[in-house]
Amino acid sequence: MALIVHKYGGTSMGSTERIRNVAKRVAKWARAGHQIVVVPSAMSGETNRLLGLAKELAPAKPGDDYSRELDMLASTGEQASSALLAIALQSEGQPSVSYAGWQVAIKTNSAFTKARIESIDDMRVMGDLNAGKVVIITGFQGVDDNGNITTLGRGGSDTSAVAVAAALKAAECLIFTDVDGVYTTDPRVVPEARRLKTVSFEEMLEMASLGSKVLQIRSVEFAGKYKVPMRVLSSFTPWDIDINEEAASGTLITFEEDEQMEQAVVSGIAFNRDEAKISVVGVPDKPGIAYQILGAVADANIEVDVIIQNLSKDGKTDFSFTVHRNDYAKTIDLLKEKVLPSLGAAEVLGDAKICKVSIVGIGMRSHVGVASKMFRSLSEEGINIQMISTSEIKTSVVIDEKYMELAVRALHKAFDLDQA
Ligand code: ADP
Ligand code: ASP
Ligand code: MG
Repeated sequence: MALIVHKYGGTSMGSTERIRNVAKRVAKWARAGHQIVVVPSAMSGETNRLLGLAKELAPAKPGDDYSRELDMLASTGEQASSALLAIALQSEGQPSVSYAGWQVAIKTNSAFTKARIESIDDMRVMGDLNAGKVVIITGFQGVDDNGNITTLGRGGSDTSAVAVAAALKAAECLIFTDVDGVYTTDPRVVPEARRLKTVSFEEMLEMASLGSKVLQIRSVEFAGKYKVPMRVLSSFTPWDIDINEEAASGTLITFEEDEQMEQAVVSGIAFNRDEAKISVVGVPDKPGIAYQILGAVADANIEVDVIIQNLSKDGKTDFSFTVHRNDYAKTIDLLKEKVLPSLGAAEVLGDAKICKVSIVGIGMRSHVGVASKMFRSLSEEGINIQMISTSEIKTSVVIDEKYMELAVRALHKAFDLDQA
């Protein structure tokens, strides 16, 4: 008998029929003698629907801040799906109880729409588990010190599940979703993508942060910090699949490098369409320039990702960086108004139609020539690389958005990721 946390994503909870299936699956695990906590997402489309209603009433204008109310609103999606799951479980004869995040309580900071979990009170949950109930806790949300409901950012139910698993010292956190594991790349873009039986925590962290939306990045950070065993698996198998077979299915996130069975140099390819490129052209090449540009951007709370500064000619250089697309217009305005006048730089140019494609693998630590193979493969496709950024286990390139799928497919092939 073990304490196990199950998380079910929006598609898995997408209709009453699917919720019924989740209930049957959960009841099977409970009947096998396990203590089960379930963290569901809102039914698919519900969070978008709710946030869309808010937008209809108040399209965002500079200076507006509806974030507290947006959290109040969006959190209801998970409250509804949790209650529905509790009802479905009870109708299957399985005692269960559902709680909203604030009832547990899952305490967060007050950063509405992107709150971070600070603590979880497990007393109530342990009491119910010991009384033989399946406990359902809403994903995606918590409560701040002033009693305000907060949400954890899109995809945040993954993080709720791992945080609950860490707080309850669960034996495992099973992330049930609409794919049967973590693939070499998004199988929706490359049909030949292969499921990985295991993926190291570090690789998963890179893949999530570089755009693989299969897990929210903070959930992986949490799993690493508290060493929560975590597995991604399908909720679309028949609910009565053998429990031992199910327990060993999907992709296990591992913490030891030698646990890694598949020792490929490159394990996966991630991509991200959420960034935009900004270039400050004709900047004087002298000390303090990077600080003048990026300091102003950081002061406005805008995160910068890839940065590149060109060689100077005639004492002038070009300075480019990427930001999230949502911050694109704001960054350009800020540079034009506040930075250009004091910098004497010629102009600010922007391009929102870019994407970032990355190869990830712990094997890159011990192999040379991996990046050059990436560049060769892109050049063979005639794809121009605008920016490059590397770290120990990844190489990312910024390219024109229209070549994204071509680049991902070419790299998947070049690194033999379709070969078992
Ligand atoms: P859920 O609603 O269960 O949280 P998500 O839509 O957030 O599900 O995440 C699952 C989706 O992630 C898959 O349907 C797939 O398209 C996408 N995805 C992106 N990269 C990968 C990858 N490397 N492996 C598996 N799925 C991926
Ligand atoms: N319902 C939230 C979202 O759509 C959280 C989640 O599904 O993980 O982003
Ligand atoms: Mg998700």
